[in-house]
Amino acid sequence: MPRRPFVCGNWKMHRTVAEATALARELAAGLAGEARVQVAVAPPFTALAAVGAALRGTGIELAAQDVHWEAQGAFTGEVSAPMLAEVGCQHAIVGHSERRQLFGETDEAVRRKAGALLAAGIRPIVCVGETLAEREAGRTLEVVGRQVRGGLAGLGAGALASITIAYEPVWAIGTGRTATAAQAQEVHAAIRALLRELGGDAADAVRIQYGGSVKPGNAAELLSQPDVDGALVGGASLAAPDFIAIVKGALR
Ligand code: PEP
Repeated sequence: MPRRPFVCGNWKMHRTVAEATALARELAAGLAGEARVQVAVAPPFTALAAVGAALRGTGIELAAQDVHWEAQGAFTGEVSAPMLAEVGCQHAIVGHSERRQLFGETDEAVRRKAGALLAAGIRPIVCVGETLAEREAGRTLEVVGRQVRGGLAGLGAGALASITIAYEPVWAIGTGRTATAAQAQEVHAAIRALLRELGGDAADAVRIQYGGSVKPGNAAELLSQPDVDGALVGGASLAAPDFIAIVKGALR
């Protein structure tokens, strides 16, 4: 069964509510009728409800950029999975390298967040990826393997049906440097082999996105690889024509 490509735009800490709504409308117009690729966007928390309303009925789905693992409580500044579900999020990114590097997010936190999302009916996009130093030391597969195992530990084999993995080499995020298609495929194939160990045949249906300076000019080649099933797009997702071109490049 071929996997349906899945492209998600990560808008990070960009766009006011008005700007985010305008961008969502531009995307909806440019991608109208494009059902062959699953598309989602992850605006900042403040714009989720408005963007969700602008996207209703368009086929473009709503994602959050992070979540807390508790449903409620004294956690100033945090947002819970049931709160995200209430505003219509179908997906949430966890373990993004910016969260890991700047905010100390651990594999254990990623696992708890993924579990909370699944319990709320939201599909986690679990990000993994090595730093440049780790790649140069030949530790890429060890690091990524540890992050995948740690992020999914104890969630149960059934969880794989609802999870997307995003392989994002840290050295390629926001740097303009992209992994070659062969480098991406090598890591994606290793992730799939590990998922097979953890969840058997369910691994074949898991989408593994590539992320790291994906642009209209490199998307088609990256996404032509057998285990590259989509993209998590940062910078280029903020320009509607670029993001639309990347989605179209995901067709294979
Ligand atoms: C990201 O932040 O997930 C990302 C891939 O960013 P960029 O596309 O800008 O490298």
